[in-house]
Amino acid sequence: MTTDTGYVTITDDCIVCDACITECPLGAITNENGKVIVETTKCVLWTCCANVINNAPCVSVCPVSAIVKG
Ligand code: SF4
Ligand code: SF4
Repeated sequence: MTTDTGYVTITDDCIVCDACITECPLGAITNENGKVIVETTKCVLWTCCANVINNAPCVSVCPVSAIVKG
């Protein structure tokens, strides 16, 4: 199961290390009862992040490449 935000998706490779939560400058990523999710409305508002998705803070910090575009 994945969480599709329109800009980033957290895949099943996520090991719930929570590193991306503090990296997102908009607080769009949260841990909800042990599952890491992206809040669509918060993520898509940061257009510069969407435009340089390969360097987005959440993508860069993930140790298992569990955050991907799409
Ligand atoms: S792409 Fe940017 S705004 Fe969206 S979750 Fe990642 S760091 Fe936050
Ligand atoms: S940084 Fe990667 S592995 Fe860690 S919680 Fe975020 S998506 Fe999951």
